[in-house]
Amino acid sequence: MIPSPVQAPVPVPALALAPETAGGVLDQARRVLAAVDAPPLDSPGLDASLLLAHVLALPRTALLAHPEIPVGPAERRRFGALVGRRAAGEPLAWLTGRREFWSLDLEVDRSTLVPRPETERLVEAVLAAVGEMGGAGRPRVADLGTGCGAVAIAAAREVERAEVVATEIDPAALAVARRNVRRLAPGRVELRLGSWCGPLEPGAFSVIASNPPYLRADDPHLGGDGVRREPRRALVGGRDGLAAIRAIAEGAGRRLRRGGRILVEHGAGQGEAVRCVFGAAGFERVRTFRDIGGRERVTEGARP
Ligand code: GLN
Repeated sequence: MIPSPVQAPVPVPALALAPETAGGVLDQARRVLAAVDAPPLDSPGLDASLLLAHVLALPRTALLAHPEIPVGPAERRRFGALVGRRAAGEPLAWLTGRREFWSLDLEVDRSTLVPRPETERLVEAVLAAVGEMGGAGRPRVADLGTGCGAVAIAAAREVERAEVVATEIDPAALAVARRNVRRLAPGRVELRLGSWCGPLEPGAFSVIASNPPYLRADDPHLGGDGVRREPRRALVGGRDGLAAIRAIAEGAGRRLRRGGRILVEHGAGQGEAVRCVFGAAGFERVRTFRDIGGRERVTEGARP
């Protein structure tokens, strides 16, 4: 018998997957996330698979290699709830509770900025500064507004002999940092509650580093995927974006040892302005480092 066109099965593999398999639920979630707009998600497909991997506690690659893996009703409900929150704009890292930074598996939550890859440039600059200073005694490094503790923990792990202090004004963020320190650098980072340099003693530090809020209050980037849900306090540096950097530069001078360095991350267009702020605050040998994309990202100054 010649099959009629209606009877002929149409070979669409995605539809052949039962909805209770990894491939089936992923397919559905991808479609939901890809349809989100205002603003659209940066990577809907990747996010769907990362969320399912999180719910099933499996590597993402296992789901892609084995779309037939069964997904039970409770797992489907949990996954559905997370996909819904992602569709509503929550950053992926809040939903998994984790973000990788400097190859470290950091806990994050809604009280902290999600660590960004560009901040690894700040860690590199801190390590270079500590290395250049050499000298006798233990280097003392401070990370201001540490958030989940990313920069402080990376520095502590890389420089075995360093004493690291991290400050943070938000007690909820400090609690996240404390758990990260306990797990990733136990006993190596001293956490202090307070604003920028406030909790630091004078004349004590070799390096004072920070990834402060540096976006302008009217930066359209603040409406972007994920960013729009993150704490404003960690993102916006006043109307011109430089308020926190000014406060840090004013406080850092007397907390540094002679020859000690201040290092801050800033926006790609702020190099010139930050060099001016550092110069006005009395720092010498002011210079700016670029990221791998060639953008000015981190500015350094030395205490005379
Ligand atoms: N680089 C971050 C962003 O573009 C901003 C981080 C910050 O303000 N410290 O979202």
